[in-house]
Amino acid sequence: MRIAVVGSGYVGLVSGACFSDFGHIVSCVDNDASKIASLNAGKMPIYEPGLAELVANSVRQKRLFFSTELKTAVREAEAVFIAVGTPSRRGDGHADLSYVYQVARDIAGALQGFTVVVTKSTVPVGTGDEVERIIKEVRPDADIAVVSNPEFLREGAAIEDFKRPDRIVLGVEDKRAEAVMTEIYRPLYLNQAPFVFTSRRTSELTKYAANAFLATKITFINEVADLCEKVGANVQDVARGIGLDKRIGGKFLHAGPGYGGSCFPKDTQALIKTAQDYGAPIRIVETVSAVNDQRKRAMARKVLAACDGSVRGKTIAVLGLTFKPNTDDMRDSPAISIITALQDHGALIRAYDPEGEEQAKLVLNNITYTKDPYECGTGADALVIVTEWDEFRALDLPRLTGLLTKPILIDLRNIYDPAEVRRQSFTYASIGRS
Ligand code: NAD
Repeated sequence: MRIAVVGSGYVGLVSGACFSDFGHIVSCVDNDASKIASLNAGKMPIYEPGLAELVANSVRQKRLFFSTELKTAVREAEAVFIAVGTPSRRGDGHADLSYVYQVARDIAGALQGFTVVVTKSTVPVGTGDEVERIIKEVRPDADIAVVSNPEFLREGAAIEDFKRPDRIVLGVEDKRAEAVMTEIYRPLYLNQAPFVFTSRRTSELTKYAANAFLATKITFINEVADLCEKVGANVQDVARGIGLDKRIGGKFLHAGPGYGGSCFPKDTQALIKTAQDYGAPIRIVETVSAVNDQRKRAMARKVLAACDGSVRGKTIAVLGLTFKPNTDDMRDSPAISIITALQDHGALIRAYDPEGEEQAKLVLNNITYTKDPYECGTGADALVIVTEWDEFRALDLPRLTGLLTKPILIDLRNIYDPAEVRRQSFTYASIGRS
């Protein structure tokens, strides 16, 4: 099968690489010429474990190509995936669909023969209808079926998630398109991955419902953590105690500084807006979003409290900047709000992140970047763990005691045992463990 993937970011690039690994011939297109040049030079524009090897292998086998030439890729394709960004629209929080609609216009002119147009981007209910309308407006003769196939991969584990998904959701209302989509995903079909065939609108909504539910789970345990701190309980034990109940499940019950990243904040906002527009507000998600927004900055107050109420003129060492480990993605990372709030209170920030420095420099100012956790801690008045990269899980605490001016550790990911850290004479604060 010949496939074109338009948008070669976290989702488009991983999808393209995996489809080519399934045996399809894939053209990944992007209008960012530097991204395509870097891919053609064998350099990954993003950090994602295993991606470089997968891409190199498919390129060698001549099954994966990168180009800025959308028209050539589309003309030859039996399926065109739209995988461009759908960020929050400035001002009102609705999903900004301008990139998706631009791609619909761009591909319309190049379509040849029956083509399945698949929205892989996360898009609000009804976007598929509009994509279809735009294509038909530009090319009334086009023989197309527009399908919704939302992506559920997690950055940091994207390839594993794509190849061994919990489910594949397909909003297909055309028999020929169903056959094409089944062929594309045949290797997963044979592995008995669950397929959910449904209407296009249902598929579009399913993606938002999934992300909103996960955001709710995180926010729920975060509020329970706050209560734990007041009543002298331990949130990790509460999470285990409820998570072992199969109706609840243990995942997404890790209390922390609030969710961030390229999906949850914008997708909860977009769902809230869609629901309000249709007169069916989802108030639980409105609350989740508001609580989470406040939480990120509130984490700075935790740092203040651990530093005797003030960080003015003090140096705070921050470990981890990306919104989660194993990615370089800084979009809506809690670190941004936390660091900005600390700077507002007069703190000087030193930071270390294994992969995120380049992206962090685009969104944060006045930071001294360091090359490892120990250089970061040298001369600092407190150490804050914001992202739980593996290399922060086994820090040499006695060494850090000597490097910090004061041994204060604020662990916003609960990766240390409080008793153990205090034994090393640290003042220790964490989440929901009084
Ligand atoms: P991204 O910003 O990493 O990638 C988007 C790419 O599209 C960019 O490289 C950009 O240059 C390109 N692009 C924009 N307009 C274009 C055009 N007209 N022609 C060609 N290329 C164009 O975004 P992403 O993280 O890959 O997300 C893409 C979509 O997938 C979003 O809707 C997102 O919500 C959804 N999604 C993301 C994730 C994730 O973990 N990142 C997971 C599931 C779903």
